Amino acid sequence: MNLRPIVLLLLWGGSLIAARENTPPPEDAGQNLWDGEGLSVICHGRRDSRKIALTIDDGWVPDEELLDFLEEQGVRCTVFIPGKIIAMRPEWIRRMDSMGFEICSHGYSHRLLPFLTAEEQEREIRRTESLIRDITGTSSNLIRPSGGRLKGPEPTLPLLRDLGYTAVLWENDVRGYSKHEPLDSQLEWLWDHLQPGNIILSHFGESLHTRQVLEIWIPQVRALGYEFVTVSELIEDLDN
Ligand SMILES: [Zn+2]
Repeated sequence: MNLRPIVLLLLWGGSLIAARENTPPPEDAGQNLWDGEGLSVICHGRRDSRKIALTIDDGWVPDEELLDFLEEQGVRCTVFIPGKIIAMRPEWIRRMDSMGFEICSHGYSHRLLPFLTAEEQEREIRRTESLIRDITGTSSNLIRPSGGRLKGPEPTLPLLRDLGYTAVLWENDVRGYSKHEPLDSQLEWLWDHLQPGNIILSHFGESLHTRQVLEIWIPQVRALGYEFVTVSELIEDLDN
């Protein structure tokens, strides 16, 4: 299979993401990228079952109320946390681990990986990997680069692949990036982009209204037969 068009689309998507850090990759760039042996970049899972994965990033402020709600609902998520937050709040990470969440890397400092030297990138990734292993006892092979950025002055994708990682992007988004964005438009975005296999981006933090939106959306989407799984579960039986 000729991957060149897909790679070009992905890079094009990356430059759009640069323009606005948290905008989801455009539809035609949201394809999974296979490097011939395994998966290198993933935006969605299988389309033939109603499984979807909710991912939550960052954690600059510990959002216990969001965790309380997800625990009450029994929704397991995949979280991408910068290593420096993991080092700062191990108990918070332990709580998520005990809730069955999948704890994954979001780099260490949250700087954009392709703007760091290869050595700096590798240091960020290894440092965070070891922090995750110290807390959970296992390491994850999933990483979400800060800002969804895989393209910049320094190559990132080949490094991630060599270190055994799959990069996880997204194709749906809880949003809330503007204080003035009404809940209705966040919900509308989720419904408009919903499809089986969705990887959904969201963030910790009260100001993004993540909990308020999910309190409405999760029961409704479950009523349609959608099941929340972790990203690893979503992609375990995914084939080329
Ligand atoms: Zn982030």
